[in-house]
Amino acid sequence: MPRPCTRCGSPVPDGAWACPACGAEDPAARAFVLQEDGRFDAALAAWDEVLALQPGDPAALEGASFCHRAAELMREGAAWDEAAWGQKGITFFEAGEWALADMAYGRVLDLSPLHLSAVCGKGLANFKWAAALKARGDSTAPRRFHTAAVAIREALRLHPGNAALNRVLSLCERELGRP
Ligand SMILES: [Zn+2]
Repeated sequence: MPRPCTRCGSPVPDGAWACPACGAEDPAARAFVLQEDGRFDAALAAWDEVLALQPGDPAALEGASFCHRAAELMREGAAWDEAAWGQKGITFFEAGEWALADMAYGRVLDLSPLHLSAVCGKGLANFKWAAALKARGDSTAPRRFHTAAVAIREALRLHPGNAALNRVLSLCERELGRP
């Protein structure tokens, strides 16, 4: 999902660090890319740049707050195993902290790529996150529905025919405009 350039307001495509219209390096686009990449300290610094340009920007405040907690969690959990990260994922999921749940399940999958409950957790956390974004009209909701769909398809590959997963996948696909 393109974000508006912090300088001229033109859309900056996903993955681009500079605005194609005015050429300005866009800290919001950079923050997004770094955050998605799990580089939370660098992303936090970029969100702080956005906030210096646009004080109170809701996406930047939310991004900064998430990156701050995620960076702390990465330091705290540097030696954690997949079970410890999985437990964190469940705790964040139950608290409705979808971004942190997604990050914790992502760590489980870094350690153990075919971990079924983490694949399911990642899919469901992204689905809930996407639904919350959609409810408040956030333009990044389709990106989350897409991430959810990718994880749930992977979960279905590991656990074929699971009815609950199939239901969530079809809801994601409906949001993404597929039959
Ligand atoms: Zn621009």
